[in-house]
Amino acid sequence: MPDPYINAVAQLDSVKKYIDAPGNLFDQLKTPEHIIRKSISVQMDNGSKKTFVAFRLQHNSARGPYKGGIRFHPQVNEAEMKALSMLMTWKCAVVDIPFGGGKGGIVVDPKSLSEKELERLSRSYMKTFAPYFGAWKDIPAPDVNTNAQIMAWMLDEYIKIQNSKFKIQDDESPYAVLTGKPVELGGSQGREEATGFGGAIVLEQIAKKLKLKRQYTTVAIQGFGNVGYWFAYFADQAGFKVVAASDSKGAIFVPKGMNPELTLAGKKEQGTIAGNYCVGSVCDVKLGKTLAEEDLLQLKVDILVPAALEGSIHKGNAGKVQARTVIEMANAPVTPEADVVLQKKGVLIVPDILSNAGGVTTSYFEWSQNLSGASWKKEVVLQKLREVMETSFDAVWSVSKENNIDLRSAAYVLAVRRVLDAMRLRGTQ
Ligand code: GLU
Repeated sequence: MPDPYINAVAQLDSVKKYIDAPGNLFDQLKTPEHIIRKSISVQMDNGSKKTFVAFRLQHNSARGPYKGGIRFHPQVNEAEMKALSMLMTWKCAVVDIPFGGGKGGIVVDPKSLSEKELERLSRSYMKTFAPYFGAWKDIPAPDVNTNAQIMAWMLDEYIKIQNSKFKIQDDESPYAVLTGKPVELGGSQGREEATGFGGAIVLEQIAKKLKLKRQYTTVAIQGFGNVGYWFAYFADQAGFKVVAASDSKGAIFVPKGMNPELTLAGKKEQGTIAGNYCVGSVCDVKLGKTLAEEDLLQLKVDILVPAALEGSIHKGNAGKVQARTVIEMANAPVTPEADVVLQKKGVLIVPDILSNAGGVTTSYFEWSQNLSGASWKKEVVLQKLREVMETSFDAVWSVSKENNIDLRSAAYVLAVRRVLDAMRLRGTQ
């Protein structure tokens, strides 16, 4: 697979001609402000110690503290972290929330760990990286294979460190240092479903622009984790026809339209590891017919939603995509080569930095509630999120029409201009 960081820089360079900025300022955007790489040591259940490589990348803080998730995945590496932290800078700018971009990760297959090991790993990460985090410095959140429980362990660890002799911050609520927490620990109502909900709002906007009738609009979703599931749920609620879904073990195709809740129940029935990870596969659900995961990408549907990992639509399979619209719910699921192939075929691509920004936007709501001591009802959170997603969608659509460019380039132009404006105003001395 091509280097994701090289891809991210190439994408940035491709919009340079639409941006009025001194070259040196523009070039600063290519390099993360901080790369923090550490080895963390964890006690395993059998008494042995294991060492893991862990990262926090802080890309740009011109518009506010760094913001971005922490992922646990065997393929985590520095190039990926550099690319994803840069994407977070653009994402926060597209939806106009006052954060910069960051990303963290541990090179680990969390499904191979017991719950206790997972807890010790999460705590050890926070122990090591706590000095870099803070409500006004850098605010982590869940990402691939991490969730509210993991945030709770990390919060607890942060509080312990804050109270210990190694005091990190004075007068600062530790609750505003992480988002995506359980509601019982200062998490926001609606945060869990936020990314999928935001994506469904984008789907509604696309249907309006393309004049698609919801009940005839077919949707296939690759990836049935938190993001894929909630996208399916809200798309179904809004009257769209979700006909296919997949996870890493396989896919199902239900031409009449599936019930996302039943599909999830079926997946869960297969059992869980450590109470945190589903090991079942949506392909085991006794509905419709099963497909290979790769075949889902080639279904003749109206909307294809990659909601798994980066690079799932690449030059090897892009030619076979039959959908007319792709809504990117994973981060960077379409490689630049695949993007070219899809565009040549006339496929409309809604970029990740717009369509999956509902998660970080609701993280911003969570952080705001934590800092002000407020607690908003779920309907309030989702209504505010709807407004942000609709406004951002319209802004990106307008830039695209004004400049006659695709939606990804338009989202980049909007975001990069906002970040550069902040840098310019702050001065260069
Ligand atoms: N991991 C999510 C993302 O990639 C959310 C980040 C956050 O809430 O800070 O957008």
